[in-house]
Amino acid sequence: MKGYSTKQRKTLADYLTSHRDEELTATEIAGALKSEGISLSAVYRNLASLEEEGLVQRITRAGDRKIFFRFSGADECREHIHLRCRKCGKTFHMDMGTTDLLDETVSENCGFKMDRAETVINGVCGDCGKAEQESKK
Ligand SMILES: [Zn+2]
Ligand SMILES: [Zn+2]
Repeated sequence: MKGYSTKQRKTLADYLTSHRDEELTATEIAGALKSEGISLSAVYRNLASLEEEGLVQRITRAGDRKIFFRFSGADECREHIHLRCRKCGKTFHMDMGTTDLLDETVSENCGFKMDRAETVINGVCGDCGKAEQESKK
């Protein structure tokens, strides 16, 4: 049943691609793909294989036991670093200029070559930062 599982995998990858700025749990993904006839265990299985290939990242949040998945296999996303807001959970795509600058600086100063596609910087996004400021007023 190779063809069948390939189709499931493609459906899953397509779904994740169109939600690539979101972090989703396997349960959420399975819920959305239920109409496609993809079960939760199939979602887990396919996520695991996509993760092995470096196309999906597994994300854990502080104080949350759930495991979230994010698609990181889009071609352009292999070349830049991602920024992740710990408040709203959104992912931002660093522009190439900033990524290059950071990459060069780290390489020169630390003698360390980053894996761009796998690098995620955690912090607070502009909007959430502003909201935080507002709430302190
Ligand atoms: Zn990206
Ligand atoms: Zn945010």
